[in-house]
Amino acid sequence: MALVTPFDLPELAGSISALPGVGPATARALAARGIRTWGEALFLLPVRYQDRRRPTPIARLEPGRLAVVRGRIVSSGRWGRGGRLWRMVIEDHSGRLGCVWFRFKRAFLEEFRPGQEVYAVGEPTPAKGGGNLPPLQMAHPELYPAQSVGPDHPSLGRVVPVYPAVEGVRPGHLRRVMAELVRRTAQRIPDPLAGLLPPELYPLPVGEALARAHQPPPQATEQDLDPQRSPWRRTLAVNELAYFELALALLRRQRSQAPARPLAPEGKLLARFLDALPFSLTPGQQQAIQAIRRDLARPHPMARLLAGDVGTGKTVVAAAAVCLAVEAGVQTALMAPTEVLARQHHRTLRAWLEPLGVEVALLTGSQSDPQATDAPVVVGTHALISRRAALPRLGLAVIDEQHRFGVEQRLALRAKGHNPHLLVLSATPIPRTLALALAGHLELSDLPQRPVNRRPVHTELVPYPQRRQAVEAMAAAVRRGEQVYVICPLVEASPALEAQDVVTTHRNLARYFPEVEVGLLHGRMEAREQQAALEDFARGRSRILVATTVVEVGVDVPAATLMVVLGAERFGLSQLHQLRGRVGRGNKPGRCLLVPGPEPGELALERLTVLCQTHDGRRIAEADLMLRGPGEALGRRQAGLPPFRVARWSRDAELIPQLRRIIQGWLQEDPELASPRYAAVKKECLRRWGRRLGLAGAD
Ligand code: ADP
Ligand code: MG
Repeated sequence: MALVTPFDLPELAGSISALPGVGPATARALAARGIRTWGEALFLLPVRYQDRRRPTPIARLEPGRLAVVRGRIVSSGRWGRGGRLWRMVIEDHSGRLGCVWFRFKRAFLEEFRPGQEVYAVGEPTPAKGGGNLPPLQMAHPELYPAQSVGPDHPSLGRVVPVYPAVEGVRPGHLRRVMAELVRRTAQRIPDPLAGLLPPELYPLPVGEALARAHQPPPQATEQDLDPQRSPWRRTLAVNELAYFELALALLRRQRSQAPARPLAPEGKLLARFLDALPFSLTPGQQQAIQAIRRDLARPHPMARLLAGDVGTGKTVVAAAAVCLAVEAGVQTALMAPTEVLARQHHRTLRAWLEPLGVEVALLTGSQSDPQATDAPVVVGTHALISRRAALPRLGLAVIDEQHRFGVEQRLALRAKGHNPHLLVLSATPIPRTLALALAGHLELSDLPQRPVNRRPVHTELVPYPQRRQAVEAMAAAVRRGEQVYVICPLVEASPALEAQDVVTTHRNLARYFPEVEVGLLHGRMEAREQQAALEDFARGRSRILVATTVVEVGVDVPAATLMVVLGAERFGLSQLHQLRGRVGRGNKPGRCLLVPGPEPGELALERLTVLCQTHDGRRIAEADLMLRGPGEALGRRQAGLPPFRVARWSRDAELIPQLRRIIQGWLQEDPELASPRYAAVKKECLRRWGRRLGLAGAD
């Protein structure tokens, strides 16, 4: 999803070039950062502040902390060999401070004479050199004669915002431009949310929040000046989240009221399917199937998310839903994120359903079979949502999104039929609050436990210097007749990074294990080659498969017991957790060896240790979220997270349950949000999200 610009309001559509001080060069520099309009510029927020409101007594200066000092010059002049330095000593009632310049304009410094009162602004550091120098000194401080400093001084007596560096624009210049922008715009930003949310959630109207962000008031507290904890940040974050949650609530209601063909078969096919399974269902699977059955029988489209960690058996539940739909006489589509996975689902469903007389067709990008779209069950990739694949009888859409698709793709597939029922399978390894927030338009079914016979994959860290151990473990597994995955972070060698690439690793291992076939699988191979490599491995023709994360999603090879991950620190924890779920799927336990690169860094090792200690996908996701943040932990596009300007899932997700309750209250009070109290909020919500989410009333 593209970045949502919350305030691309008509009021803020003015070009930044229209601001005084923004000439062509500045405008170009800002445009290079994606800033063209006033609205965009307002969201260039300070990263921190310099509190220059009052001088600090010299005795209370702290090294490394910017301060303003007011004092009298004791001495000033050239210093050192050849007079290449300029030194000054300033004194106040509490002590003495050194100032030093390594490069300087002599004429400027000569203006300052001993005895004169000055302000110096800078970061004190311990002075080297000893002698009778003051203990702290400022290098290259800003210097202002005290008698020239009035109450409106731009750099003194106030809090100064520090903006992210914009190449080609000097910080002081940027500050003046932003101050002018705020003066002209902040008070004009309408805020229909203000007054509808409690102050602890939404402390300020949005215009006021932006004004305070850019121009902290003279009485700002320490908390106000912490961009992470400030009321303005809270306001801006909640503003984004509230409109998003409202959009999801509207979407949920819209879907729950749309007409759909009820599917209420007797359940004979489902019973035959379950009877033929070689195992019995877990309680979670049973409950999920019951919920799906209830949903399908209603005259409104089902919208259910089946959330379960890797290996919790979501496919069986999906197949049960397929049986119900087929018996009810409608067509079912199952969409998978990759061709490899689509083919795997095709194989699984065929093995289960064809003995029951149900045809299962495959429709992928690399193979288009015009007949396929007539089959009662169609399995495919994105090709299914392409325009060519019309599925007119579609009654049930199952999306195995494996944390790769987002809200928008779900909607695209749905648009294919006449409000088909929707079942989304997700292993998205995120905390529950977050799952609820993201899947706000879906009902949630959890698969909390793994089927009994699956043991967690024993995971160890093998330091780079000991990586031979991993090779020995591979040799032992191969001797026992088992199979091995070797996962590499890159496709091609990158000498600069010294990463273990898949091609070189494949070559080396093929040489090392001449007695067995070593397969190669990566995303840059043709789909057909990928499929062949996977088939060879699934059939046991190749014993070792060297692969990139292509195998991450749902590949099922029961004889694979060992996974070796090279350059392990380069993967997200959740991704590694998904990966290791590929081994130990048969009756032998699985083992995973994480081999980091030569210089993984301490934090990376700490992260990998989490993985050795726990097998709880949600705990791992939380650790990942804490250590890396969701964008990185999941990959933006993979997670389908709407990228907000200010809100951060890791920090703000906890606010969502409360927001959601409040929004429910609005909709109860005024279902259409048509009253003056809510109309503007709804309008703004539709402006931001209506078209993206297909909300009724969006233009
Ligand atoms: P995922 O949730 O990761 O998609 P799968 O549906 O691929 O998991 O199931 C993982 C494995 O567990 C498959 O081999 C499947 O046949 C098996 N399985 C599923 N449900 C059960 C069960 N109730 N008892 C035993 N094995 C099961
Ligand atoms: Mg799966």
